[in-house]
Amino acid sequence: MTSITKSQNQIRLTADPHKPLSPAIYPTSVFLFENTAELIDFVEAKSPDRFEYARYGNPTRRAMEYVLAELEGAEDAVLCASGMAACTMPVLALLQNGDHLIFTSDSYLKTRTFIEKTLPAFGIATTIVEPDIQAVEAAIRPETKLVFTEMPTNPLYRVIDLEGLTSLCRKRGLISMIDSTLASPVNLNPIRHGADLVVHSMTKYFAGQNDLIAGGVAGRKDLVSQVRDRIGELGAILPAQECYRLYMSTKTMQLRVERQNATTLALAEYLEGHARIRKVYHPMLASNVDAEQARRYLRGGGCLFTIDIDGGFDQMRAFCDATKVFRIGPSFGSPESLLDPPVIMSHWNVAPEQRAAMGITDSMVRISVGLEDVNELKADLDQALQKAF
Ligand code: PLP
Repeated sequence: MTSITKSQNQIRLTADPHKPLSPAIYPTSVFLFENTAELIDFVEAKSPDRFEYARYGNPTRRAMEYVLAELEGAEDAVLCASGMAACTMPVLALLQNGDHLIFTSDSYLKTRTFIEKTLPAFGIATTIVEPDIQAVEAAIRPETKLVFTEMPTNPLYRVIDLEGLTSLCRKRGLISMIDSTLASPVNLNPIRHGADLVVHSMTKYFAGQNDLIAGGVAGRKDLVSQVRDRIGELGAILPAQECYRLYMSTKTMQLRVERQNATTLALAEYLEGHARIRKVYHPMLASNVDAEQARRYLRGGGCLFTIDIDGGFDQMRAFCDATKVFRIGPSFGSPESLLDPPVIMSHWNVAPEQRAAMGITDSMVRISVGLEDVNELKADLDQALQKAF
């Protein structure tokens, strides 16, 4: 990964005469023009580096867009209001009535809902397949335009053969788009493996402190430019203040993610041998069905793992209720460790048969590991497992 300091040094803040180390916040909706000649130059050039109205762009946002592009090795990037906007805006910008999209399973449920339920209402057909190349290839139709997958997936941490996928897409003239939220640029750079677009919920590792919601899209300049236009049209923008906060927290992202990689793997390995645990899911464990691909593509496994407790719904609840350091809450990538029982938190309204088909059991808990001491976390999990039985 490009170092965050290097990427932040390279951003085009040089126009600021004060040469600040961190970007200035521009709390304005309007940017002025000296005269009509300057305005004509602006409308002709269509550059994202000159600003007119803050729904289309803002220097603080642009500074963070340069950082995201640099970290992902992308030609360009655009920020938006949330990770959901980062997932939906490219689809709404690049596809139209009559097109077909392929998405993979074990995905963030709201993204799946958008794809399964909302897109068909716009005349966009969709197919959801397992995250593997053969399944994707079999689903391609003449009208297929885009293949969208997550890497790794969640909560089972499947890891697709990324280069196989991107070369298949290139051969068949399809756009490849990777939601790399769970990896972060610290652990994976999909563009460097041939992806056209990478999207992030920057709410997670980038923000890093559970204090804001943000999203970003990086990739090919021509595609990002269309996404930027659609964000400007639909209005899902990220305010300058939030861009500044993201910029500041990104300075420590590498340190945080590397620490979380190490602590999470240590906890996953520890619980894999625990008498009260039926199964542990973590990208880098040898027991992961995609362990080979995980080792090939990921520099680390991230801050999430999932346990299936060797009991039922009641033991799972007792375990969650007994933890003292881990708190019950969604999301991940923060300093605080969190627990998310998917059967309640995200899949409560999904029919039991469909939940089972998705691999979600009543005894599963997704664990998001924070920045606490590994021994403190281990002891907390241990005592909660003891109390659960
Ligand atoms: N993509 C993934 C993989 C996620 O986990 C999430 C949120 O948890 C999102 C997208 C949506 O992000 P946000 O909550 O920032 O809208």
